[in-house]
Amino acid sequence: MKANKHKTLLLAKKTRPLHARHLGLHFDYPSGTARSYLSRLGRQGLLERTRGGYGLTKKGHDRLRYFDIFGCARPGCSLCKGKSGYLTWPECGSRMSKQKARNSKERDFFLVVRHEGVSCEQCSTLILDGDQARQIGIAMEE
Ligand SMILES: [Zn+2]
Ligand SMILES: [Zn+2]
Repeated sequence: MKANKHKTLLLAKKTRPLHARHLGLHFDYPSGTARSYLSRLGRQGLLERTRGGYGLTKKGHDRLRYFDIFGCARPGCSLCKGKSGYLTWPECGSRMSKQKARNSKERDFFLVVRHEGVSCEQCSTLILDGDQARQIGIAMEE
């Protein structure tokens, strides 16, 4: 069984502290594999040692958020089916194709300021700020 980074980080978010035996419980990893996988994620800066196990770092949270939006690109990840080529809003589950998405300019409405970036048409959650949208090549709105 191959380790799934996305699911392991998600488990680390829910289970604090995360211990190798949790990986055994949830994913059937043998305990040696689970321990070495956790320390590998630690070396990548995604997890940090805490009392009794591991916790998700800031970098780990950011990576998880990235996976939730773009997918983790691991073939067969059940959390990411159909995400490739799309932006997914973790808040509401909406999806939008990257081609269709537009980077909106900052705009001052009567009571609210809409910030620059890509936001959901339904719940208006800002998913990417203007710089992040430019980095992945999302077009500016007309
Ligand atoms: Zn995934
Ligand atoms: Zn939404």
